[in-house]
Amino acid sequence: MDLLLGCHPNILTLGEFHLLPWKIQRDQQRCGCGENISNCELWKPIVKEHYNTLVNGRIHRFRNSLEQGRVLRPMELWLISFRRRLSKKRDFLIRQYGQENYQVISEAIKRSRTIKDVDFVVDASKDPYRLYWLAMSGKFSVYIIHLTKDPRAFVYSTVKRNTKDLKKTVRMSLRYRIENSIIDLVQRKVACTKSIHVRYEDLAAKPGETMRRIFRNFEIDDSNYDANDFRAHINHAVAGNDMRHQNDAITLDEKWRDKLPRMKQHLVKILTHVAAKKYGYY
Ligand SMILES: [Zn+2]
Repeated sequence: MDLLLGCHPNILTLGEFHLLPWKIQRDQQRCGCGENISNCELWKPIVKEHYNTLVNGRIHRFRNSLEQGRVLRPMELWLISFRRRLSKKRDFLIRQYGQENYQVISEAIKRSRTIKDVDFVVDASKDPYRLYWLAMSGKFSVYIIHLTKDPRAFVYSTVKRNTKDLKKTVRMSLRYRIENSIIDLVQRKVACTKSIHVRYEDLAAKPGETMRRIFRNFEIDDSNYDANDFRAHINHAVAGNDMRHQNDAITLDEKWRDKLPRMKQHLVKILTHVAAKKYGYY
């Protein structure tokens, strides 16, 4: 999705931007352009200029390590759900978070403008807490794309090494419900932003049509857009799916239909029914 957005002539994709502080502290971290981040023509000068903000700041506050985020943050969820007004301290922290992100992202926009006319950036960090903080910081106009997958495909992708693992099947089904309900909650709480729900299945089956639906929803001109350009286009996504380095066409992956045992498919369906029905599954 971030690559499909990033090949729009006015959109710059940053990939999973909040991983940048972790990535620059490790060697051999590849950027979407194929270079290591330490040698990438976009990120190298930005990292040099904003090293202190990136390493000692809080851009990575919702990422515990390069590999690990956290789905459940009880205190944060409680504050998002029930506190109508931000406390002074929380307001300060959220503004500071917005400012640090803004500093580095605006530098990326400025430097990218030598090659494309950037009006929008894509942050594929996929963290609802980060989304909430960015939206509340007053530094960004946030447009939300909520991308969902059939729960059976999601569960299969996590248990495919051992499809007999019943415990993990249940755990991942519940995770699907929790993750998506947190995203729904955040979307309700930052209601002033524009948002759209997209199913992975529609995106994979009809990428061009689905992307145009997204652009129309956000009132972004798509007259010079071609979804087929997405791999020809150089991108500097900080992290993401390895498919950005491959050359295959976009295809709908439905291996779960044959490989996830029937009984498990039913179990996932029962456990995720209410949540997934809302997104057009079942
Ligand atoms: Zn790069």
